[in-house]
Amino acid sequence: MQVKSKLALLGGPKSVQSDPGNIFNWPIVTPEHEEAVLEVLRRGGMSGTDVTRQFEKEYAAWVGTTYALGANTGTESLRAAMFGCGVGVGDEIISPSVTYWASCLPAFSLGATVVFADIDPNTLNIDPNDIEHRITERTKAIVPVHYCGYPADMDPIMEIAARHDLKVIEDVSHAHGGLYKGRMLGSIGDVAAMSLMSGKSFATGEAGILTTNNREIYDRALAFGHYDLYTAENLETEYLKPWAGLPLGGYKFRVNQLSSAMGRVTLKYYDGYIAEIQQAMNYFWDLLDGVPGLRAHRPAKDSGSTMGGWYAARGLYRPEELGGLSISRFAQAVSAEGARCGPGTNKPLHLHPLFHEADVYGHGKPTVIANADRDLRQPAGSLPVSEDIGSHTYSIPWFKKFQPHVIEEYANAYRKSAENYEELLEDDPGRTDDIGTWRFFSPA
Ligand SMILES: *Cc1c(COP(=O)(O)O)cnc(C)c1O
Repeated sequence: MQVKSKLALLGGPKSVQSDPGNIFNWPIVTPEHEEAVLEVLRRGGMSGTDVTRQFEKEYAAWVGTTYALGANTGTESLRAAMFGCGVGVGDEIISPSVTYWASCLPAFSLGATVVFADIDPNTLNIDPNDIEHRITERTKAIVPVHYCGYPADMDPIMEIAARHDLKVIEDVSHAHGGLYKGRMLGSIGDVAAMSLMSGKSFATGEAGILTTNNREIYDRALAFGHYDLYTAENLETEYLKPWAGLPLGGYKFRVNQLSSAMGRVTLKYYDGYIAEIQQAMNYFWDLLDGVPGLRAHRPAKDSGSTMGGWYAARGLYRPEELGGLSISRFAQAVSAEGARCGPGTNKPLHLHPLFHEADVYGHGKPTVIANADRDLRQPAGSLPVSEDIGSHTYSIPWFKKFQPHVIEEYANAYRKSAENYEELLEDDPGRTDDIGTWRFFSPA
């Protein structure tokens, strides 16, 4: 029997008493990482491409694709992937609304626009059943995001894309090393793009990378923002050869090789890093199994799918099991226990004014419809699951080390807050709509 102990928020003792030590430290930087970075720094190799080209080869081999191409940020890898897929003026891409903006916003700079699909409330990923009716003659690509580490349901998405001759661009920024039914994320779509910035589970400093088996997509991505590598010899796609030497997009995506050096060493040990993260995060959720109001956000154990690095990990919230307790009040109680917990997740992009009003490029009308054949803007109420998800999600700690006694204290903070929910109802300010962020997650 659980003995009720007084909530820290109401003057009781905190659940988290231990010093967390290095359990949250990120990224992992060893003397081997330092040596590799210093080697590039000392020889003045920061703006070269030799280390990056080597890193790309190794990264492609790890993901299991023929090609990989680095970029200075994940955002630019996504822009390059979109151009690689032929997204251009007047085209549409279909993206989830609940994601970081870089999953879709680069479309604007290509003269294209974004149609948002709703998400599934349990996976938090694009809902495969909400895609097909949004496809028009102008749709070029679907962008599933493996959101907060959870693999998007790729089989039906690939089927829909094949039926309509669309490209699929995986955004793997939250899920490096995760598996979908046994297959590496980043190897399933026509192309994948991902961030490698310091906060992500594959952390190099500041960089991005795309992976593909498609030579034309690779060549187009390279031609778009890599003038130094854009040579006739580096390309197999004939129609791109006449313009070699200048980047087609007017972009410069070259990676700072300090990040590539960091990436090469990280890649050597990454499977080990995430194996320990998996063990720690799964232990946390196993401890909370059966607690009312709380559900794990992770694929079933026998599904062959895994969470990879658990970036920005969330929990699912069922307020109806807790007398309607608001997520904000719950998160406040957990935080008071010493386990910082934030309500919500990314705010739905379709409600941001940039997707309604802003005329970014001087078209004389909002950019979102500047080259569109109809008013495709999506008002409040149009994507109900996305608009409601903030009140059904919360952040959980991101453990990098398997230290059971520390993890148990954090799990207790969540359990205690849920099991004593009645004490929280009295001062619950209730539900607000201003939950989540359009910017970034602060690390736990
Ligand atoms: C971080 C992130 C990006 C962009 O990556 P940067 O390296 O920060 O430019 C793209 N998509 C998602 C889902 C992200 O979380």
